[in-house]
Amino acid sequence: MTKDKTSQKSALVIGGGVAGMQASLDIASQGYRVYLVEKQTSIGGRMAALDKTFPTLDCSACILTPRLSEVARHPNIELLTYSEVESVKGKAGKFRVTVRRKARYVDEDKCSGCGDCSRECPVEVPNEFDEGLGFRKAIYIPFPQATPNVYAIDRERCIQCKRCQKTCERGAIDFEMTDQIVELQVGAIIVATGYKLFDVSQYPRLGYGKYTNVITAMEYERLINAAGPTQGHLIRLSDGRVPKNIAFIQCVGARDVAKGVPYCSRVCCMYGIKNAVMAREHDPEARVTVYYADIRAFGKGFEEFYEMAKTRFGVDFVKGRVGELSENPHNQNLVMSVENILTGKVSEREHDLVVICPGLQPPEGLDTIANALGLERSIDGYLNVEDRFAAPVETLVPGVFTCGCADGPKDIPDSVTAGSAAAMKATIILAVGGVA
Ligand SMILES: Cc1cc2nc3c(=O)[nH]c(=O)nc-3n(C[C@H](O)[C@H](O)[C@H](O)COP(=O)(O)OP(=O)(O)OC[C@H]3O[C@@H](n4cnc5c(N)ncnc54)[C@H](O)[C@@H]3O)c2cc1C
Ligand code: SF4
Ligand code: SF4
Repeated sequence: MTKDKTSQKSALVIGGGVAGMQASLDIASQGYRVYLVEKQTSIGGRMAALDKTFPTLDCSACILTPRLSEVARHPNIELLTYSEVESVKGKAGKFRVTVRRKARYVDEDKCSGCGDCSRECPVEVPNEFDEGLGFRKAIYIPFPQATPNVYAIDRERCIQCKRCQKTCERGAIDFEMTDQIVELQVGAIIVATGYKLFDVSQYPRLGYGKYTNVITAMEYERLINAAGPTQGHLIRLSDGRVPKNIAFIQCVGARDVAKGVPYCSRVCCMYGIKNAVMAREHDPEARVTVYYADIRAFGKGFEEFYEMAKTRFGVDFVKGRVGELSENPHNQNLVMSVENILTGKVSEREHDLVVICPGLQPPEGLDTIANALGLERSIDGYLNVEDRFAAPVETLVPGVFTCGCADGPKDIPDSVTAGSAAAMKATIILAVGGVA
């Protein structure tokens, strides 16, 4: 089924993470219409899954949740979740965009988000939002504050028992639902598609996927989160024990030419330090060591946070290269050799939990978006901008802008700043009806 939406003064934002949300709010608040296209069933992006944020240790959900509601309630923003851009034609001021709205099998206008259907569903599968450490049903929302608060059926996992349909008093479940094609006419486009995490199994020596007590930083974020699969209790996955000697390994899949990631991912040092501090907050008795190559604490308050991690929280920082990990068969601890870069000494260390801090990479599907829009990508795979200094959110295609991690790794404050900057550039196009 095809729907046509034509609106003169409107913009398209692709990606509903913190950057795309900011851009949407800033455009909408100036009186223009925004179509926010998000491929997942909810907006929020990665920030929705984080526990605390550096360097203030504010609760991530507490900052994000009011923004999610603001976006959902804004009269000028139309949310197109579970949707992807298929094609783009035209030029600045007059783009015609085709969007595929994937079938949720739940009617957005009827679903109240009560969750009765989900409680009735007999199928439990690992929840991607919890990095597979928790479970969700075949009819689900990814997290409690999901926006919109509308359930979706995972048809690959659904066994078609139709219990959900019988339970839903609002008649919202429709197994006959099909994908919809929506045609949009917009004056400007912002790409805010974020990042993916480096696949740490590309370093077999670190034992991820082989040793249960080697986890990634994102898994750690979910484990320490009160809304996560362990209700915020940091435990080892092998035996449920509280870890007492935790290692964080920095720069995994960053600054490594051999792995095709020569660049610094900018956020891993700080999120590594944050998570080390959180480990001590959770358990002041725990020994916590961060193995790093360099600490890049460049943002406002970052260096002070790093100092605080050392002095107030007693985190041990070792400038060192980590070699091959092996598992102690008696206790599933991880044994590793570490070369201290400052002293040249090699020592053997044992930890009961190892957290790998992966670098950031361009997200899956960025090539499709780039091709549809005719955008250039730089050698690292992220979107290229016109001029890093004078036009940092402008792509080489007039009327198309970028923000957040779509053009390179950024932390939340920088992603939000770029979102506002891209919104300003987009509204100039909308105001003059094309390139000025
Ligand atoms: C472990 C970890 C901890 C972190 N901790 C912090 C912290 O404490 N403080 C901090 O400042 N930063 C932190 N960060 C960085 C933070 O996650 C990013 O700064 C932030 O998420 C960037 O926002 P974004 O909107 O650019 O991207 P994302 O959050 O990745 O959002 C992008 C959105 O676009 C959607 N999307 C992707 N492709 C498409 C497509 N083709 N069509 C439609 N939608 C699409 C995605 O589904 C997603 O919703 C951390 C990162 C990690 C990995
Ligand atoms: S589909 Fe029906 S039962 Fe399920 S959350 Fe929506 S309204 Fe509630
Ligand atoms: S029909 Fe599918 S989604 Fe609905 S209750 Fe059965 S398994 Fe769950």
